[in-house]
Amino acid sequence: MENINLNNITTDRLAAPVFEQRKLDVYILRLDKIHPFISGNKWFKLQYHLEEALSLGKKTLVTFGGAWSNHIHATAAACKINKLEAIGIIRGEEAGTLSSTLIQAKDLGMKLIFQGREEYRKKSVPEDISTGDHYIVNEGGYGEKGASGAATILQHCQEHDFSHICCAVGTGTMLAGLTNSSDPSTRTVGISVMKNNMALSAEVEKLLTDPAKEFDIIHDYHFGGYAKKTTELFVFMNEFYTHTSVPTDFVYTGKLCFAISDLARKNYFPAGSKILLIHSGGLQGNQSLGKGTLIF
Ligand SMILES: *Cc1c(COP(=O)(O)O)cnc(C)c1O
Repeated sequence: MENINLNNITTDRLAAPVFEQRKLDVYILRLDKIHPFISGNKWFKLQYHLEEALSLGKKTLVTFGGAWSNHIHATAAACKINKLEAIGIIRGEEAGTLSSTLIQAKDLGMKLIFQGREEYRKKSVPEDISTGDHYIVNEGGYGEKGASGAATILQHCQEHDFSHICCAVGTGTMLAGLTNSSDPSTRTVGISVMKNNMALSAEVEKLLTDPAKEFDIIHDYHFGGYAKKTTELFVFMNEFYTHTSVPTDFVYTGKLCFAISDLARKNYFPAGSKILLIHSGGLQGNQSLGKGTLIF
């Protein structure tokens, strides 16, 4: 199993026509390049959990997620690298055929336990393993340790002095970490990938180290809801790839890049802004799409 390589992260300038027209200097931080499996922000959010689990002498790490979860996938790989047993509690009954995400998680040694949606909602660990020596990570890696991990992301950026730092938002942990670690003059902007998830601001605020720090969350680019997709989104992702050579995933980074392009078109960013987009990874999830949907 290959180790994580943070030296692979690059800060690339994006030369899409809309950014040129609006005189915006836009960069993308390619966290998707750190590892073939543990892509993007999930490793950053897991790092302090792994350290803690190891220092407490725990043997097993337990976490939660859906059948296409980047978090499950990354946790399986991170546990393998760190020689921890991994247990994934998976939302929904076991399907006849496993998703490629779960097949890969299993191949990496993760034990999968399926729970019906009602049961899953309680986020309880089944009794037969709850007596064991295990360490629990929240669904999606939400929490303070995750945010502290995400706060180290910007250390890998080769450009500085951004007016805006933009990322896709699921639980809000990464947005909190970026807000905590960015300059006071930098505005952090999150694009929510869930429909009307209005609890999000409060979830992010709980993780701020300086409550005076501000951030924005934009709720207009979910394309119907979490992991929902449209032809318009795919057309955009293919065009974006043609212009920039950057592959995106349809759950998070595709929606982020669509949103930022659209906001640029609508003059949300003043001319002269210097903007950083976080490519938080997630490309493995594109395996759920039909062949030929994407050109990369
Ligand atoms: C999980 C994930 C996010 C969202 O991160 P949160 O910290 O949960 O907001 C964004 N992008 C990708 C690719 C992810 O896998």
